[in-house]
Amino acid sequence: MGSVKVSELTKEFSGVHALKNVNLDIREGEFFALLGPSGCGKTTTMRCIAGFEQPTSGMIQIGETKVNHIPPNKRNCGMVFQSYALFPHMNVFENVAYSLNIKQLNSSNMAAKLPIYLRLLNRKLGKYPKPIEQKVMEILQYVELDKHATRLTSELSGGQQQRVALARALVMEPAVLLMDEPLSNLDQKLRHSMRNTIRRIQQDLGITTIFVTHDQEEAMSMADRVAVMDSGEVKQIGTPIELYSKPSTPFIANFVGTSNVLKGTVVGEENGYSVVKGHGFLIKSTNHVQQKEVNVIVRPENIKAFKPGTISSDELTNIIEGTVLVSTYLGSIVRYDIQVEEYQLVVDTTFVPGEAILTEGERVQLTIDPERVLLI
Ligand code: ATP
Repeated sequence: MGSVKVSELTKEFSGVHALKNVNLDIREGEFFALLGPSGCGKTTTMRCIAGFEQPTSGMIQIGETKVNHIPPNKRNCGMVFQSYALFPHMNVFENVAYSLNIKQLNSSNMAAKLPIYLRLLNRKLGKYPKPIEQKVMEILQYVELDKHATRLTSELSGGQQQRVALARALVMEPAVLLMDEPLSNLDQKLRHSMRNTIRRIQQDLGITTIFVTHDQEEAMSMADRVAVMDSGEVKQIGTPIELYSKPSTPFIANFVGTSNVLKGTVVGEENGYSVVKGHGFLIKSTNHVQQKEVNVIVRPENIKAFKPGTISSDELTNIIEGTVLVSTYLGSIVRYDIQVEEYQLVVDTTFVPGEAILTEGERVQLTIDPERVLLI
């Protein structure tokens, strides 16, 4: 029911190629994130799935049904926006009950005959059919807002408003939940707790969720799989661990976490290692690639920094010399910017109380485990 398939999706806006042959295969019950820089096409992809945008070409399927020509309100998708889009003059209960009430009235025979003012009056008096009342209160309990049911949404905090928006989408029991940058307006601490709330609810309900964000930490911490987009194209799809450990391009290596990217040439093989020569370094990798010209990718936490002459004998495979430019104490880690020829490498080391931090201008030797050197 809740799987989503997007095939060769293309969208042009008067000359702007917003999407180019986007393919996604989102499984039922999956938490799927669309991640990428501003303008890469995340929102357009989501709006095409929701039905607010007509694709220029390509197919969108929800469950077994092709939905290209089905209007948004019949696609069985719930939407949560960055701006919440709540009714400020209604209380929490009314905001959540609103769409449910309309849906029920629309589907009953009476609905067509009931003048709109009567419906509104009914709502004003708080007379909701019992099943609606029960369902709304149930969902409000779920997002921990049942005690605020009678409060106006304009009197709520940002996090509470976002939970009302979530409840309003969930109460319709959609097959797919679409969330477009839902946490962007919240402060750092609240974002963190809302991430956990959304993930908990998504897992409890097992609802297929597509989550748009430009924040890699958000995508990586919440999603089962992530599609990284750039310039209207999907560049890589994978689990957070796959994207982090095996980025397919330097762009992804840099967008998903921090990476050091060095240019080099594979000059041969030695004891099962590829040997790569670059300007001012020679590095071995357990990675083997077809091409000669490569990008050498190393994560900051996979480089160790030593004062010259203090390297232990089991660290001798890859040694590079450099000079500390900046050292930054960040609590549990110390981050160093280290100049190696034309490169400034980022190196993260665990902070050990009592151990000296390398100082600016100091010469260092860096070691890198060949298994942690990725060649692209
Ligand atoms: P952001 O993170 O900034 O919201 P995004 O990745 O969601 O960006 P989109 O909003 O999907 O990106 O936009 C993709 C491209 O399509 C951009 O170049 C944008 O300017 C363009 N675009 C989006 N909507 C329209 C529109 N209605 N008319 C013209 N161009 C549009």
